[in-house]
Amino acid sequence: MTNRIETALIHGAIREGYADKKGAVNVPMYLSSTFHQESIDEFGEYDYARSGNPTRAALEKAIAELEGGNRGFAFATGMAAVSACFMILSAGDHIVITEDVYGGTYRFVTKVLPRYGITHTFVDFTDTEAVKAAVRPETKLIYMETPSNPTLGITDIRAVIEIAKQHGALTFLDNTFMTPLHQKPLELGVDVVIHSATKFLSGHSDIVAGLVVTKDEALGNEIYFVQNSFGSVLGVQDCFTLIQNMKTTAVRFNEESRVAMRIAQFLHAHPLVEKVYYPGLPTHPGFEIHAAQATSAGAVLSFSLPNYDIAKAFVEAMKIPVFAVSLGGVESILSYPAKMSHAAMEPEERSKRGITDGLLRFSVGLENEDDLIEDFTQALEIANKIK
Ligand SMILES: *Cc1c(COP(=O)(O)O)cnc(C)c1O
Repeated sequence: MTNRIETALIHGAIREGYADKKGAVNVPMYLSSTFHQESIDEFGEYDYARSGNPTRAALEKAIAELEGGNRGFAFATGMAAVSACFMILSAGDHIVITEDVYGGTYRFVTKVLPRYGITHTFVDFTDTEAVKAAVRPETKLIYMETPSNPTLGITDIRAVIEIAKQHGALTFLDNTFMTPLHQKPLELGVDVVIHSATKFLSGHSDIVAGLVVTKDEALGNEIYFVQNSFGSVLGVQDCFTLIQNMKTTAVRFNEESRVAMRIAQFLHAHPLVEKVYYPGLPTHPGFEIHAAQATSAGAVLSFSLPNYDIAKAFVEAMKIPVFAVSLGGVESILSYPAKMSHAAMEPEERSKRGITDGLLRFSVGLENEDDLIEDFTQALEIANKIK
């Protein structure tokens, strides 16, 4: 019997704990950097905690099961996960990557990788033909993020995998915005799935963490080699927190996604809002493709107000959400991409990607949905006055 994802989220990690035969229903925290060996020439499963720790192993096993892969890896942050994956590449390799990629990934690809002779081409991944045209003989990797940040662009995952296969390139996909609950990239044929577990998987704005999952054994070994060599593993106490928080991902994320749809519809109908970016709206250009590869539109939406002054008045008038970077918490989070997540991007690159001075991003939390709608209503009313 294979457990459905809601069940796997609760029970996926604890089997290791049962294996201790002490019956703890939570995975123990093995706060141990080193492990005693019984023999001089035959070492046990664990020797040193960078290479492996039982608490981390439970988390890694859990995320592998959730994504339908067979190897999971936990990293100190989402960016540690992203950069570790890039590190399986070598000098001379070329990457085709979505142009509205997460700001930190953009910084790593444009500022760090070129120093090691790894080049890239940014492409609008909503245009599959453009992806195809950007592939070169030395392209080793096609990097997707869908839905993307902050304008929720949708990549046709199956079409990109097809292109990658024809050229013998690998595919990575940042699945942060969907979680394995609503999108299973490995099942579609993606090679490596990456998460900033800081977001919905942890869900409480308490830790930073990254997760990676692979299905192919050799690829899993390569990622493990980098994880152990580079050493940016997730600490034991954060592994414990993440295991605990992941148990409620289904109830949190399903509810947040449902309310996100309602807020998106509300904003779409509001006269002051110029544009709403949410793949659950039939007006979204990626609506059909997204529906064919994911089971909800998620809990993040962006919308544009006419200009900076109106956006500023709106932000200052909103009472419930925290105004902060990040997303995926139980508290709604309002952010201003131009100065937050995408501050590392040059202004002309930002505007090319629709990240205008009036663009705001909203990550729906678990507050009462009527309270959220009322808050939006009053803040938009105030913002409208300075028009
Ligand atoms: C936050 C985020 C990251 C980076 O994760 P950190 O945990 O902040 O290092 C990567 N990709 C996406 C889509 C994100 O939202």
